[in-house]
Amino acid sequence: MHNLALAISQKSGYQITGSDDEIFEPSRSRLEKAGLLPKQFGWFPERITPDLDAVILGMHAQKDNPELLRAKELGLKIYSFPEYLYEQTKDKIRIVVGGSHGKTTTTAMILYVMQKLGIEADYMVGAQIEGFERMVRLSDTAKYAVFEGDEYLTSPLDPRSKFHLYKPHIAILTGIAWDHINVFPTFDKYVDTFRQFVDLIEQDGSFIYFQDDANLCSIAEHARQDIKRLPYSTPDFVINDGVTSVIADGQHFAMCVFGKHNLQNMQAARLACQQIGISAHDFYTAISSFKGASNRLEKICQTDNAVAFKDFAHSPSKLRATVEAVRLQYPDKRLVACMELHTYSSLMADFLPQYDHCMEKADVAFVYFNPQVIEHKRLVPINPDDVQRAFATHNVQVFTDSAALQDALRALDYHNTALLMMTSGNFNGVNIPDFATDLLVPGFIKQKKLDNRYMRMARIWAENSYCTRRQVGALLVKDKMIISDGYNGTPSGFPNQCEDENNVSLPYVLHAEANAITKVARSNNSSDGATLYVTASPCMECSKLIIQSGIRRVVYGEQYRIMDGVELLKNAGIEVLFSSDK
Ligand SMILES: [Zn+2]
Repeated sequence: MHNLALAISQKSGYQITGSDDEIFEPSRSRLEKAGLLPKQFGWFPERITPDLDAVILGMHAQKDNPELLRAKELGLKIYSFPEYLYEQTKDKIRIVVGGSHGKTTTTAMILYVMQKLGIEADYMVGAQIEGFERMVRLSDTAKYAVFEGDEYLTSPLDPRSKFHLYKPHIAILTGIAWDHINVFPTFDKYVDTFRQFVDLIEQDGSFIYFQDDANLCSIAEHARQDIKRLPYSTPDFVINDGVTSVIADGQHFAMCVFGKHNLQNMQAARLACQQIGISAHDFYTAISSFKGASNRLEKICQTDNAVAFKDFAHSPSKLRATVEAVRLQYPDKRLVACMELHTYSSLMADFLPQYDHCMEKADVAFVYFNPQVIEHKRLVPINPDDVQRAFATHNVQVFTDSAALQDALRALDYHNTALLMMTSGNFNGVNIPDFATDLLVPGFIKQKKLDNRYMRMARIWAENSYCTRRQVGALLVKDKMIISDGYNGTPSGFPNQCEDENNVSLPYVLHAEANAITKVARSNNSSDGATLYVTASPCMECSKLIIQSGIRRVVYGEQYRIMDGVELLKNAGIEVLFSSDK
């Protein structure tokens, strides 16, 4: 909802207010920044007045919500979130991506290509995607709207699937694999909601669907005659040295993403883009730099012989696709796959058989679930044997204790290995990127803790600076010893003032890292091979000095306007790390 509020507030002529009983981060700060955070949390029917144009209801609103009751009493126009998205885009060409899996990725691919080609679009996507500030955008100017179409119900008050409200001109369905068993108790009911979605395509619209899915083929066959049917499958591709290239019109396009499921999503996105006049060549050229939606096969660490990925997958179809993708991309590596049964559906005893053979392509397969979560969700208890039987392959080992799982992972050798960590949770409190990196690069976590401590010391050292606008501190550490320190300031003989009246640094101010490096040069010590801790990213001039001084590692604590200094350091082969820990 807060994404919608921010999106509408960007349009001219709209005044937005909102209520909620609780507002969490990051919504809270983002609303505050936009001046939209309510002064008090809770429900205030007196705020609902006859002059309101519309009231938009969040999906968690209760029937007896006092503001809702007041709005009904006044006869105000009340919309659900999906209804309002339609209302705002009813004169635009709407592209809607549905399916049990791959919707976020496919939506992100379409938006990515449109953005690269300078085609403006309104959008709503279910997860934060790189290069897009928000999850919702609405404008007066865009001709197109691209929505991720979720089959889940609109709200407890409106039992329609959300994607039934968007009425697409161009509809995509990526596949149907039973999910949300709590609201779709049978598979037939689940398929039916997709059939209705296709019925709601606008006159003479297009239906893009995955042709290897029998249910989708049946839906397409029985669809209205005016609807243009556009089936797709896996494109031709080759894999060389861990890089997947799609072959189109005899040309190879090297991609950042991999896995058959991603290439299939790419075909859906290509057909949608084709419908709005984008050529295959332009599409493939643009999509080649697409790195994937966040949380989907996100590469968290790579060494010269091992690689680790994190993925949000938990449902059977996503799990299978993700494991197979990594298997295919790295045929010669040992595949260690670790997953957590975490969502409501995945922990239901009746649903477990859907996981049949899902992880068979992994050499080592660890499955974790937390019995306390099952208790908390008030589900029928399951035991490790049930889970083992459901997966039905010998490679699977089941854990119910996170510490035991971590020990088992630590006991493995990761030479020539692809590691895959899959969950929508965190294996009961594991920092997945740090943990996985530590498996591939032993000592990583220890070094990170050490780096954070030195960085805290550099921050304290910065307090010596009499610069008012920006205090920067630096430490040089070699062989576990602090060999030098520095903070920004003016050389002796100059006034004790770092900034002019416009708060711009005066040219004679010496930077913290330059002070630390010149100080060590005057001592018996040498900065050769040392690590530099500096609280702000080094500038170009300091970076040159860092390279000349033989420093091997630079850890910096804050990104400063222009990052060309950091780029220079990286190009010179210096290990550069950003420490966000405060
Ligand atoms: Zn500098």
